[in-house]
Amino acid sequence: MYHPPVLKNKRTLLERAEKFISDIYFTDCNLRGRLYGDTHQLTSLSVFQTAKRVQYSEAIQQNFQPCKVGDAFGPTWWTCWFRIVLKIPEDWREKEVHLRWESDGEAMVWRDDQPVQGLTKEGEKTSYILSECLKQDEPHSITLYVELACNGLFGAGQGSAIAPPDLNRKFTLQKAELVVFNRDVQELLTDFEMLVDIVKLLDEGDQRGYQALFTANEMVNLCEPTDPSTFSSAQSLAQKFFSQRNGQSQHIMHAMGHCHIDSAWLWPYEETIRKCARSWVSVLRLMEKNPEFKFTCSQAQQFQWVKDWYPALYSQIQYFVQKGQFIPVGGTWVEMDGNLPSGESMVRQFLEGQNFFKTEFGQYCKEFWLPDTFGYSAQLPQIMQGAGISRFLTQKLSWNLVNTFPHNTFFWEGIDGSQVLTHFPPGNSYEMKGKVEDLIKTVKNNKDKGRANHSAMLFGFGDGGGGPTQLMLDRLQRVRDSDGLPRVNMSSPDRLFSELQADSGLLCTWSGELFLELHNGTYTTQAKIKLENRRCEALLHDVEVASCLALSQSVGFSYPNKELQELWRLLLLNQFHDVIPGTCIEMVVEDALGYYKEIQRTGSRLLLSACNALRSTPWMEAGSSTAVLNTLPWERTEVIALSGEGSQSRLALIKAPCMGVTLLTDSAVSVSAVTVTVQADGTVRMKNGLVQAVLDKTGRLISLILLQTNREAIPDGCFGNQFVMFDDVPLYWDAWDVMDYHLQTRKPVTTVVRPVEVVSSGALRACVSFSLRISEKSHITQEVILDANSPYIKFSTHVDWAEAHKFLKVEFPVQVRSSNATYEIQFGHLQRPTHRNTSWDWARFEVWGHKWADVSEHGFGVALLNDCKYGYSVHQNVMTLSLLRAPKAPDASADVGHHEFTYALMPHAGSFQDASVIQHAYNLNFPLRLIPDVSMARPWSGFTVSSPAVILETIKQAEGKKNALVVRLYESHGSSVLAVLSTSLPVKEAWHCDLLERPNYSHPAEVHNSKISLTFRPFQIISLLLHLS
Ligand SMILES: [Zn+2]
Repeated sequence: MYHPPVLKNKRTLLERAEKFISDIYFTDCNLRGRLYGDTHQLTSLSVFQTAKRVQYSEAIQQNFQPCKVGDAFGPTWWTCWFRIVLKIPEDWREKEVHLRWESDGEAMVWRDDQPVQGLTKEGEKTSYILSECLKQDEPHSITLYVELACNGLFGAGQGSAIAPPDLNRKFTLQKAELVVFNRDVQELLTDFEMLVDIVKLLDEGDQRGYQALFTANEMVNLCEPTDPSTFSSAQSLAQKFFSQRNGQSQHIMHAMGHCHIDSAWLWPYEETIRKCARSWVSVLRLMEKNPEFKFTCSQAQQFQWVKDWYPALYSQIQYFVQKGQFIPVGGTWVEMDGNLPSGESMVRQFLEGQNFFKTEFGQYCKEFWLPDTFGYSAQLPQIMQGAGISRFLTQKLSWNLVNTFPHNTFFWEGIDGSQVLTHFPPGNSYEMKGKVEDLIKTVKNNKDKGRANHSAMLFGFGDGGGGPTQLMLDRLQRVRDSDGLPRVNMSSPDRLFSELQADSGLLCTWSGELFLELHNGTYTTQAKIKLENRRCEALLHDVEVASCLALSQSVGFSYPNKELQELWRLLLLNQFHDVIPGTCIEMVVEDALGYYKEIQRTGSRLLLSACNALRSTPWMEAGSSTAVLNTLPWERTEVIALSGEGSQSRLALIKAPCMGVTLLTDSAVSVSAVTVTVQADGTVRMKNGLVQAVLDKTGRLISLILLQTNREAIPDGCFGNQFVMFDDVPLYWDAWDVMDYHLQTRKPVTTVVRPVEVVSSGALRACVSFSLRISEKSHITQEVILDANSPYIKFSTHVDWAEAHKFLKVEFPVQVRSSNATYEIQFGHLQRPTHRNTSWDWARFEVWGHKWADVSEHGFGVALLNDCKYGYSVHQNVMTLSLLRAPKAPDASADVGHHEFTYALMPHAGSFQDASVIQHAYNLNFPLRLIPDVSMARPWSGFTVSSPAVILETIKQAEGKKNALVVRLYESHGSSVLAVLSTSLPVKEAWHCDLLERPNYSHPAEVHNSKISLTFRPFQIISLLLHLS
């Protein structure tokens, strides 16, 4: 069929075709040079610049100044509003006419007062189509506005993408003109591009590549760039090639448009709102032209933003959601971090997200969607299932630095045994471009060949937004079923997962967490965000408990459901996967801390008003005494500070009832007095009847004895509470990564500024204090506190920190031998090895945990508790808590400043479960709260749970039900138990419900004498809907 002579020279034939479409070489005579026809100047171009992000209606009222192509605008984070007046030449009749716009920054075109199209050079969108085929009766004279954000898709990093932003960058307008666009040339260019890629990417042993080569070569022969009448014969050759079909066994790719938009990262939250609008409006334009095109879109918060700021655009999105083209996925408020949020926070991510999607679009999401998050808690499968989701998509584990994850499609099993069908797109990307290499990579990488014959292909520019382009759709259109390449369907997550589920007989199961072997610094970076997250989680818990008690006990109390929802949404927003991990720029940190302040301010007010309402209940009234509120579901006997600061405070030992209230005076109990003794050698001994601790002069713990069994917890000659510094220079991802080799740089902090001295020595509390020097710029001051009746010794720590690329940790070598350590996770715990046998073991040299970690041997163990930290490591018998890092990108001042945090060491007999380590870690995080000016006759308790294994975690008003509560309990020991929940609240009836609070009417929870009997599997979460009478 081919003209002779076609010599056997693959290289020249291939390069000939490449040069024919090159945008660098031979554009004077090749096909690429013909993409655009005539051009025409704009009638006028003028600009208004502002440091603020202003609304369209306000912007167009401003004073616009003339400007021209080549001018530079900005600086960074400013916005330029361009007014464009244009007139399309009459003689461009029947032509496709574009406004061609090339500039730095991210632009939005506004026409007739509405956003119509995003324009971003980085996202390969530089054309706004004015007419697809110019007609006489179309408007020829048009005024447009272009809103240009002075930041790139990836912010404005100085020198590298993740460097702190360059605040003085200028943004240049390179092109603004009318142009005739030759669609037929574009179509041929796409044919050539795909053929060339097939030649290059198919194996040498594959004859299909040679067929592509000769097809492309013959097309060059046929095609005369200056004569469009020659194009059709070239095009039909390409068509003939692409329409040669596969056999039935070929792998099937489910292509879905996607646009990953980080809710804040290298740009602030406010810019994300505009990124959503720019990206999504462009998606709608593609949907209009390509009815089969489907787009998956996650994060309810982003939909809410667009609803608030771009209502007309939002209604168009609703229309395309109903059509099934714009597909909400994920079911969560934001794509949150998968490690650090508490169990209840994760539930709320789904509750707020799913309720939003149901209300706005009439449907819950069926898939959980977290393609870019830094590891996934082993409790997520159960939480997903509870939120009506049994499918999960991510790809981030492809970033593992050490071990290759063995599956792409598998069942993921959580700590309770719940399973979800999980898919990692084998192309290891959520921003493919529809190119041949994406197809081939997917098929080659698929680790479940023969087990799963379907894969996702998510295409579209991402991270900073952008999304799919027409070119990507055109590429995919050509290879829907072309021999030698996987088949491509325009598909949806529902279709993909249904296909995978239908043929899942050979799929493997992965049990436990999906640990990311990278980004392990994110458990520690931006300590203030971590601290505020933990505190705000506790505050909202307490507000809900107090408000529920008030609702059920105090006539006329109105539950602050609207305000609580707003506060939860702020907290959930900050759990976004670049905010709580601390991997964002300084502007985002400031915004996040502002939101936490708002949660603290309003949350404290709500707590106060709930406590006020408790003053008018059957069991408490206004008076002159002070009461104590315990929001945790067990009785606590603790020392509480009544007034004053630090060592000056008046103390009391209080026995507080479960989720209840007692008077201060009523509850005093007597136990062994605390003693503190400075010994002859300068060491200090602290003792309280439960434990005895000895600190050396430099504040190190040289002995900790559990008095009940006279068991020493610190090995002979070792030092607990040893601060250690490490060099912390990762390979690239500064705020994200701590590398294995940092462990080789360990340096103990040994310079004493002020040796240990006794600060207070009352019968209820002993406190000693000391100071250490880390460096010229950084210091530690610590108070070591032992309270009466406390099984743990507390380390209240202040650090002034001004380091660069250093990592501060504290070590506790313990006299315990165990091959595993246990770490608290969401609604449960899991074990990780303390040895480094295999690469899977040592890759976890830095891990995350929540309020506690424990190492135990039979009969004895030691737990390390904390009030705001997440980074841990336990190697052999050394327990280490990660305290502070000092990365310089993307926030150059990350963590520089003053920090306060508390950790505690608790030796125990028996198992950590039987020793109530879990409860004590809660106690450390949920302080007792005082209610002044009351009087009450006897202690009052709202709820009790009969089994110490079961934790009543949450009490809240049921969504949309004024007189009903939801209580959430979980089994925390990893055991099957029966438990009885008793309440003094007037509960009329109770139902089991899921995490979305949908009652299961076939599963009533019988209420007998205010008691409900419950059966738990290990780590099971049970939610109940309680109707109050
Ligand atoms: Zn992301």
